[in-house]
Amino acid sequence: MERLTSVALNPSSAGDEQQFEATLRPKRFSEYIGQPRLKASLQLAIAAAKKRGEPIDHVLLYGPPGLGKTTMATVIANEMGANLRVTAGPAIERAGDLASILTSLQDGDVLFIDEIHRLRRAVEEVLYAAMEDFKLDIMIGKGAGARSVRLDLPAFTIIGATTRTGAVAAPLRDRFGIVHRLEFYSAKEIRQIIGRTAGLLGVGIDPKAAALLAERSRLTPRIANRILKRVRDFADVNGDGIIDSATAEAALDLLEIDRLGLDSADRLLLSVIVDHHGGGPVGVETLAALTGDERSTIEDFHEPYLMQIGLLERTPRGRRATAKAYRHLDRQAPKSGNEQPGLL
Ligand code: ADP
Repeated sequence: MERLTSVALNPSSAGDEQQFEATLRPKRFSEYIGQPRLKASLQLAIAAAKKRGEPIDHVLLYGPPGLGKTTMATVIANEMGANLRVTAGPAIERAGDLASILTSLQDGDVLFIDEIHRLRRAVEEVLYAAMEDFKLDIMIGKGAGARSVRLDLPAFTIIGATTRTGAVAAPLRDRFGIVHRLEFYSAKEIRQIIGRTAGLLGVGIDPKAAALLAERSRLTPRIANRILKRVRDFADVNGDGIIDSATAEAALDLLEIDRLGLDSADRLLLSVIVDHHGGGPVGVETLAALTGDERSTIEDFHEPYLMQIGLLERTPRGRRATAKAYRHLDRQAPKSGNEQPGLL
């Protein structure tokens, strides 16, 4: 059986995972579980925009991968009755590429730009006027004869997604009327998502097993769905296809996902800090070198969850393991009478 490493859990993995995700993606607010504040604010914005007969304001969604940013863009477009166009920051190489996307839009269309923090500067600058006034400034000709022409664009909505708002240039961020952070889900919401996915896949799962999977899904819908898929395979091969707690437990062991939802890469990251750096602080570049992970994988994927559950702290001087991390790794925490051994 395939091992469920963090790479397999990562958003960048192959095409059939994307297909799998697309089939499970909620299409309306009623199917979108959790994120109540985000939903309330978008529902209001959509109702107001519809009443005025205008597109909704540009929306910037940020938060760790797998929390439902792309899904929310789909929901917004559907609720607006609009067409959705999907692209990503690194895919728009030149200002001309953006111009051709923008001029092909129709009134009311929604353009989703994933990884918007990775847009090139020259492309970003074209986007400013387009977002603000629905105008496109293009240069015609070269050298002394070159002149700038301003074209009208249809009224459209940009939905940008990023794992880090800090990485989005301030002038770009300021052009979004609605800026929202997606939160980690509660275990109860993840249970509901697992129940929904099991229903869509036609998999039998008992409530205890669903609760067990929910606890180990990093409070993240994408991970919950991927784990459910792997556990279903395990149940098909090793049992009668029904997922009960014993099957779930055995499959999770095989996948090396521990009771806090950490995989081997998370544990390696923590043990490097604890065993090689006395609990920290350790700079993220050093961690990347010692674990063999990309810096961005550590920052965008591993750290947010480890911080959320209180195993890791970020300080100006680097990352530090908490006393809880020592306990989780079964290591003796340095004596401090303090929850943060690294403070010693
Ligand atoms: P992101 O764009 O933030 O990386 P996605 O929107 O691609 O995350 O979500 C990953 C998967 O998780 C989707 O396939 C979707 O099925 C599921 N998902 C995300 N958010 C929700 C939600 N609120 N309710 C149900 N399923 C969700």
